[in-house]
Amino acid sequence: MTFDLDALLRPNIRQLKPYTSARDEFQGRARIYLDANENPFDDSPFHRYPDPHHTDLRQKISSLIDLPADHIFLGSGSDEAIDLLIRAFCTPGEHSILTCPPTYGMYEVQANIHDVGIQQVLLTPEFQLDEPAILQALRPFTRIIFLCSPNNPTGNLLSRTSIKRLLEAFHGIVVVDEAYVDFADQPGLTDLLTTQPNLVLLRTFSKAWGLAGLRVGMALANPSIINVLYRIKLPYNLSQAAQSYLYTALDSHKAINQRINLIRTERRRVAQQLSSLPNVLQVYPSDANFLLVRFIDPQSTYRHLLSNGIVVRDRSRQPLCEGCLRITIGTPAENDQLLQALAEI
Ligand code: PMP
Repeated sequence: MTFDLDALLRPNIRQLKPYTSARDEFQGRARIYLDANENPFDDSPFHRYPDPHHTDLRQKISSLIDLPADHIFLGSGSDEAIDLLIRAFCTPGEHSILTCPPTYGMYEVQANIHDVGIQQVLLTPEFQLDEPAILQALRPFTRIIFLCSPNNPTGNLLSRTSIKRLLEAFHGIVVVDEAYVDFADQPGLTDLLTTQPNLVLLRTFSKAWGLAGLRVGMALANPSIINVLYRIKLPYNLSQAAQSYLYTALDSHKAINQRINLIRTERRRVAQQLSSLPNVLQVYPSDANFLLVRFIDPQSTYRHLLSNGIVVRDRSRQPLCEGCLRITIGTPAENDQLLQALAEI
């Protein structure tokens, strides 16, 4: 299917003159900067506005993930990218997004904030894409399909073949949220970016990288989509503190891999032990850093864990997740306490 970015963009976004600063033109070339009404005294490392284009950071991430810097957007968490994608492509009251529940709740929340419609096509009982039902649901007003792989809260990867077929069949944007892909057995879909101009991947530094409090996430896509996101974001969406900290933190990717391996090992151990508990009906296989677990009595289990000071996520009211709690993999000591509390029931 041909991809026409201009036709997909909201007309006001297509015509938008983005905010610019004098520094866009003269950064690094002047001696004295009196253009942005900053405080001139360098009492703190933060007296200047940060780089709105995240140039150094994108360059460094580019070599780390082997993708050109112009394919990378950085936002205040990947949640910002979800918000911006809906802003860019969906006219309020006119267009809709399509989601496949059970899945991450923010796609729906952001669509509601923007008064954008939500079409829902349930995953199959195996938590895979129901391709015929999705194709049947697509309408001219459907602008973005939000998929999540590994999916939150089910933990599984979506079939790569199904995603590829949807990318071919749908002329709108297909977002694949890969927030948890670093914990998966298979690599993500970055290789598809070269052939699929309508694909947007979401990544985050909040999970495997252990930087949820820093608020940095990514959208990876072809440069024309990345340009749009840079045109409509708030000029200084990433603080200097976040940019500097992440720039240094990127050097520790080897240590991050060790942490990922530990979490994966713990995931196996916790899943195994949970399966042997009498009040557990099912532990779903997971490619993420959490487990979806079906209990005989999820509500009393939830309350029992709370009374032990342990909070998990109740997903029992989501479709296909009846009776299920979603449990994040903690430290080995935290996991031991969780297992002990559950064994007491
Ligand atoms: N996508 C998914 C699937 C998530 O589960 C989360 C966080 N719960 C996010 C995105 C948001 O991540 P960030 O911290 O980068 O905004």
